[in-house]
Amino acid sequence: MAKFIFVTGGVTSSLGKGIIAASLAKLLQSRGLKVTIQKFDPYINVDPGTLNPYEHGECYVTDDGAETDLDLGHYERFLNIPTSQANNVTTGRIYQTVINKEREGEYLGKTVQVIPHITDEIKRRMMLLGESGNYDIIITELGGTVGDIESLPFVEAVRQLQWEMPEEDCMVVHLTLIPYLKAAKELKTKPTQHSVRLLSQEGVHPNVIVCRTEHPLSDELKRKIALFCNVKPNAVIEAIDAGTIYEVPLKMLQEGLDLIVLKKLRINGYSAPELSKWRGFLDKLNHPKSRVTIGLIGKYIELQDAYKSILEAFVHAGAMNNCKVQIVNVHSEFVTDENVHEKLKDLDGLLVAPGFGSRGVEGKITAVKYARENGLPFFGICLGMQMAVIEFARNVLGWKDANSTEMNTATPFPVIALMEEQKKIKKKGGTMRLGAYPCQVLEGSLANKIYQSTEISERHRHRWEFNNNYINDFTNAGLKPSGKNPATGLVEIVELNNHPFFIGVQYHPELKSTVENPHPLFVNFVQAAKYYAEHKADAKAEKLEKQTA
Ligand code: GLN
Repeated sequence: MAKFIFVTGGVTSSLGKGIIAASLAKLLQSRGLKVTIQKFDPYINVDPGTLNPYEHGECYVTDDGAETDLDLGHYERFLNIPTSQANNVTTGRIYQTVINKEREGEYLGKTVQVIPHITDEIKRRMMLLGESGNYDIIITELGGTVGDIESLPFVEAVRQLQWEMPEEDCMVVHLTLIPYLKAAKELKTKPTQHSVRLLSQEGVHPNVIVCRTEHPLSDELKRKIALFCNVKPNAVIEAIDAGTIYEVPLKMLQEGLDLIVLKKLRINGYSAPELSKWRGFLDKLNHPKSRVTIGLIGKYIELQDAYKSILEAFVHAGAMNNCKVQIVNVHSEFVTDENVHEKLKDLDGLLVAPGFGSRGVEGKITAVKYARENGLPFFGICLGMQMAVIEFARNVLGWKDANSTEMNTATPFPVIALMEEQKKIKKKGGTMRLGAYPCQVLEGSLANKIYQSTEISERHRHRWEFNNNYINDFTNAGLKPSGKNPATGLVEIVELNNHPFFIGVQYHPELKSTVENPHPLFVNFVQAAKYYAEHKADAKAEKLEKQTA
C-alpha cells in the first residue's frame, strides 16, 4: 500500500514546487524507497499539447506519448525513472472523463456535480499510480496557488483523502515564500500565515511548511512561523535560493525534510541516503575544467522554459565532460546571410531547436549552412533536423525552393513532408506522432559510435518527416540517413560525411537526459564542441596560411 504526500503552493506561483517535490522524492529514493511524482494542473486544456510555449514553457513528452507539463521533466531528471500518462492530470481531463461517463449514462438519474463527481474523479486519479504496487510513496504536486478558484476541487479532494486515509498514510507539504523587505531589512512571515490560513479554511492543514527565501531563516523566525501556522518548529523548512536546482535535494537533506516525512508517514527500515552519484555530478558541475560556448538557435528564446529539457541536458552533458557549457541564445528570426558570421563566429557548437510553423525558419537554415561550411559542430533536434535537410537540399543539391510542406505546401521539392498517417488528421489535440519509437542505427555511423548500439528508442513529437522519395539523392551527396524506424523506414537520424560533428535527429533526445544518465548525443556534442574550441585557433591559423600562400 503506497503512502501519499501532497505538495501545495501558496503566496505566489513560480516558487519551484516541482523542484521541491522532485528533491523530496530524490531523498526518499536515496533511502531505498520506491517513489514517483505526479502533477495535477488546474487548467481546462486536456493537456498542454496545444499550448504555445510562451504560455506554458516546453511540452514534455513521456514514453507512452503523453504531452505533459515540464515539471515531469524535472521528476525524470531527478529520479531517473520514466513517468507516464498517469503522472499528469488536468482539470480538462477530469471533466472530460466525467462528462463522457454522464453521456454513457453512468450517473443515470443523478445531478452531476463538482462534489462528489468531479472530486471523486480527482481522487480516483490521485490514487491510480498507488494501485500498481510499484511504489512506496506517491508525491502529488498540485499546480497553481492556494486560493485560486480553479484549484479548489483539487484541495477539496486532498481534504477528503486525508479524512479517509489512516493518518500515517497521507501528509501535506506546503511551499510558501518569505519575502525580504530591503528597506526594513526584514524577512516577512505574514504572507505565509495568510496562505496557510487560506489552506486551512479549505479544510487542509499542512504538516510541513517549506519556505522559499533569499536569506537564511533564524530559529526565532522558524518558531514564529511554526506557532502561527500550527506545525512543529522542525517542520518549518528553509528553502534558500540555490546556485543550481540540483543543489536543492542536499539543502533539503540538511534541513531534515526527508526525516520529518518518514516520521509522519511512520516509515521504518529506511537506509542512510545514498547520494554518491548525485554528489559526484554536483562536484563536476561546480568545478569545470574547461568551457565551451554553444549557440541555441530558436524562436522562443525570450522564454527559457520553452527549451527547459535541452538546457538541462546540457547541464548533465557539461558535468560529464568536466566542462562548463555556456549557452548563447540566438533568435532565429533575426539571423540573415549578412549577420550570420558575426552572430555565430564565437561559438563552439550550434544546436538548432525544435519548433512549429514558419516564423524564424529561414534564420535556422542560414545558421545550419554556416555550421556545415565551417566545420562547426552541429546538432539539430526535430525541426532543427528538418532544417538541416532543407539546407542541404537547397545549397548542396541545388534545389533552391526545397522546403517542408509545413512552411510551403507548393514547394517543388518537398524534402520534408507530412507523414502519411497525419494527412487525414484534422483534430489538433494529442494527434502528433508522440512518444517512444524504436530506431535502427546504421552500423559504423556517427550515431552508432555515439550510442554504442544499433537499437535505440527515443521520444517523438512531430507531424512532418524526411521525404523518403529523395533518400538516394541525399545519401549520394553526403547527407546520410543513419537511423530509421524499423517498421516504417521513417528517417530518424541524418548525419553529414566529411564534417567533424553534424547530426540531426527527428526525435527529442533531451527528454531522456537525466543526472545519472546524461544523454550520449549531448555528451558527444559537448565533447565535439570542446575539441572544436581547443583547435579553432590552429584551424584559423591554417586557413590564414592557406589564404596568404
Ligand atoms: N514542426 C515539425 C513537425 O511537426 C517539428 C516538430 C518539432 O520540432 N517538435 O514535424
